Parts: sequence; C-alpha cells; structure tokens
Amino acid sequence: LFAGSADFYAAAQTLDRLPPMEGVEIAFAGRSNVGKSSLINALTGRNTLARVSHTPGRTQQLNFFRIAERFALVDMPGYGYAAVEKAKVEAWTRLIHAYLKGRANLARVFVLIDGRHGLKSIDTDVLDGLDKAAVSYQVVLTKGDALKKGEVEARIRGVEAGLAKRPAAYPQVLLTSSRDDSGVADLRAAVARLLAE
Ligand code: GDP
Repeated sequence: LFAGSADFYAAAQTLDRLPPMEGVEIAFAGRSNVGKSSLINALTGRNTLARVSHTPGRTQQLNFFRIAERFALVDMPGYGYAAVEKAKVEAWTRLIHAYLKGRANLARVFVLIDGRHGLKSIDTDVLDGLDKAAVSYQVVLTKGDALKKGEVEARIRGVEAGLAKRPAAYPQVLLTSSRDDSGVADLRAAVARLLAE
C-alpha cells in the first residue's frame, strides 16, 4: 500500500482552502513533539511527507498527501505548542473543528500519544472534541522503545481504560516506535483495513 507514490497536493490554513472531498481520508493528530513526523516517515517509508509538514509556515495547517492513489493522508498541525499565540490557537481550533465535523470522507483520526506519558489533559481535550464531533479515532502510542518492558502492559491498559467510555474511540490501542519500527506494521495493517471497509 505504501510502496506507491506519495504526493503533497493540498494545504489548508482556512476552511475555504480545504480540498474537495474525494476518496478516503485518514488523519494523524498529536501534541507537538509526540513523534508524528517520525511515525509518518516510518509508516510511509519516506521522509518527504513529514519534511513538507515541518517546513516553517506549514506546521500550522492541514497538509494533504495522496498515497498510492488510494487514499489521502492528512497531517494535522501539532497541538499544545506553548509558543503559539492565543489568537492562532483559536483560529487553529476553529479550522480543526470545522474540518472534523464536515468531512464525510474522513475514515479515522489516529491520535498519537507519547507512550512515555500516556493521556494528558491536553490530549483528553482533543478526544472530547472528537467524541463530540462523532469522528472515529484510534490512539497510537509513540516512542514505545523508551518504555521498559515491565511498563508496557500497564501503560496500554491505562490508556485503554481512559478510552472505555468514549463513544468515538476505537478500543484497540497500538504501541509503536519509529526508532525500532515496532508496531509500525500493525498501524499499516489498521490503515489497510480501513481502506477495505
Ligand atoms: P512531531 O513534532 O510530532 O512531528 O515529532 P518528531 O517526529 O519531529 O519527533 C519529536 C522528537 O521525538 C524528536 O527528537 C525525535 O527524535 C523523537 N522521537 C520521534 N520518534 C521517536 C521514537 O519512536 N522513539 C524515541 N525514543 N524518540 C522519538
């Protein structure tokens, strides 16, 4: 699936710049520094996508990539970056909410959570928004390599418990590491399953 082409085709900073709804979209969200770029690189096997999204000026917008002519990968701007001024945060929040609410072709949002920390209040705020908008989402833990073996099970169970009463949450939590590639195949399989639906 990810062996095909991957092309940046649209960016949206405001609602009127969203590309038309064509084909399935799968989005990736997470706190700044959670490891989103690294995981997208690992997932797609190329670093051009995240490089585009890390370009100054492109980090605060929705970046759209067409993958293997099969689906669109949407890289959502990282949240919780303290240096962003309040007005920008508000504009960002408006765009994100409007995108999430109005996107019938959005199959799932993968919400990346730092495996070392688990769900923080800034993350649960985002999950609240997704539940309210009834957008299907799945939590993916990042930086799994930084966890001790004995911590893994408890971290996953803890996050699963935090999702139990959330109506739009997919119950399975994935543990990944872009450093050692663990769990990346599972994430790829989850994407492939979405496209088969
Ligand atoms: P983004 O801001 O969410 O796009 O995060 P980046 O992919 O740029 O990564 C942020 C930081 O986390 C960088 O210092 C990465 O080296 C580090 N990082 C990313 N992925 C992993 C991982 O799988 N394991 C560990 N230990 N560190 C990671």
